[in-house]
Amino acid sequence: MIDYHVHLERGPLDLHWLKKFWAQAEARGLQEIAITEHAHRFKEFYPVYSHLISGSDAYPYMKQWITEDFKLSLADYFRLLEEARAAGIPVRSGIEVDYFEGKEDYIRALLEDLPFDLVLGAVHVLGKWGFDFCSDCGWSGRDTDEVYREYIAVLKNAVQAGLFDCMAHLDVIKVFGHRPTRDCHDSWVALFEIMARQGLAMEISTAGLRKPVGEIYPAPALIAIAAQYGIPITIASDAHEPGDVGYKWEEAVALARNHGYKSITVYSQRQPRQIPF
Ligand SMILES: [Zn+2]
Ligand SMILES: [Zn+2]
Repeated sequence: MIDYHVHLERGPLDLHWLKKFWAQAEARGLQEIAITEHAHRFKEFYPVYSHLISGSDAYPYMKQWITEDFKLSLADYFRLLEEARAAGIPVRSGIEVDYFEGKEDYIRALLEDLPFDLVLGAVHVLGKWGFDFCSDCGWSGRDTDEVYREYIAVLKNAVQAGLFDCMAHLDVIKVFGHRPTRDCHDSWVALFEIMARQGLAMEISTAGLRKPVGEIYPAPALIAIAAQYGIPITIASDAHEPGDVGYKWEEAVALARNHGYKSITVYSQRQPRQIPF
């Protein structure tokens, strides 16, 4: 078993801290993890995010978040992951990159030269609004149907951009429990059609179980559609601290099995491979 979505960000970028994550992975019976730091931790990615803090329509909490970030260098990150592998830890080099319309070429050029095993694509921001930041951050007064419409539209562009290997927490828009009143089924089907064409995988993430919504990402109804389209899967916890590595992976696997999945996807140098359960 694997956990392909782990963040070291609440501690230092050093082997001692990383070993705590691996210790928990081993305790939960995992064979491999992927460290997938947020791209906005690295100074090289600043131009991808800089628009979020410019202009009078920028959200103050986004400005604060972003001015605290972009301090690490990718070279230090790769050095640490290499050091971990040399110490016998089966860790893949990953990154979680936000998709923004108009930044595709920059992201593509940056990723091209970097030795990642896996690039997760994610949407956490609509326009300049980081919707998963906190339950009070910008949600009040919004039309939930419109938010979902926009979210799925941005996801479609993200998938079409051909930048990513696997989409993270596909329906994270539900994080605080906001649900659309209209049925989004057709929009999701259209998204999965594009993912299938592009050969993109999705993660089944137990992070949603730890959030106010209390539901796995993506919802079982979406996993059912994904299975119909043959979308490959990874298993993910989105751990931000050692204790969450491999969190409830058995639930994710049971759900995948129930929908007919027989294998998970692992990556090396951005090449996917299927491993039977
Ligand atoms: Zn994320
Ligand atoms: Zn994450």
